[in-house]
Amino acid sequence: MQIDLVYHPDRTLKGKIRRRLVRLAHRRAAVVNLPRPLISFSFDDAPASAATIGAQLLEAHGHRGTYYISAALAGHDGPMGRYANAEQIAALAQAGHEIACHTYSHLDCGQANGAQADEDAALNDEVLRAWGAPSATSFAYPYGDVSAAAKQALAHRFTTLRALHHGLIETGSDLNQAPAIGIEGPDGEGAALRWMMRAAAKKAWLILYTHDVAESPSEWGCTPVALERLIAAADRLGFDVATVADAAARIGAPETARQSARAAA
Ligand SMILES: [Zn+2]
Repeated sequence: MQIDLVYHPDRTLKGKIRRRLVRLAHRRAAVVNLPRPLISFSFDDAPASAATIGAQLLEAHGHRGTYYISAALAGHDGPMGRYANAEQIAALAQAGHEIACHTYSHLDCGQANGAQADEDAALNDEVLRAWGAPSATSFAYPYGDVSAAAKQALAHRFTTLRALHHGLIETGSDLNQAPAIGIEGPDGEGAALRWMMRAAAKKAWLILYTHDVAESPSEWGCTPVALERLIAAADRLGFDVATVADAAARIGAPETARQSARAAA
């Protein structure tokens, strides 16, 4: 299955206004009061190299990562190398990594209505559970974009919904459209480190993401050495390193309506 990883945003005035307004809609504000800064390492899509090399680098430091999987991509070849297959995803879950949701088909939630986004995410969760992962509580928007209706629908299903705009998670940050920093491109490592310094100073929660972890990475990935240096820096700077789900629990992220209903049932 081929997907278009280069995002072509709707550049019309309508598209620009939608992206501005959706940031203000259906918000769930975080309350962050931590003794130490908090960091999560995450991998989107996710290529097999992230599931093998990326996981080994985190495990060597006693840490675990979050993998935002689009199940329809699993095992297929793509521009960032082959995607992790069902067995590799099951092995990640076994090793204590978090299996989180992208949409099943890498559907662009910016162009989808609520029902379409929710159906695609539900299918993804169902397939991942069939492969041995627990039901996902974390979600990342493919391409970082979302419509107001899709945001509202998905917010009922997941504790955190991660986007791609830069920032830290602090008190008042929107957990339904959370910021993140990409370890990707020529300045990926530098940008990640600068945001780590800011997070450390403010005792905030920072989510980093990348895609492939390879000696010659795609433009969306990073090298093993860069990832290793960032993990070591997190330890040196006194960060607690946690999966996105564990970090959300640590800040006391409010449960979604659906999770509360499930717990009561
Ligand atoms: Zn993606």
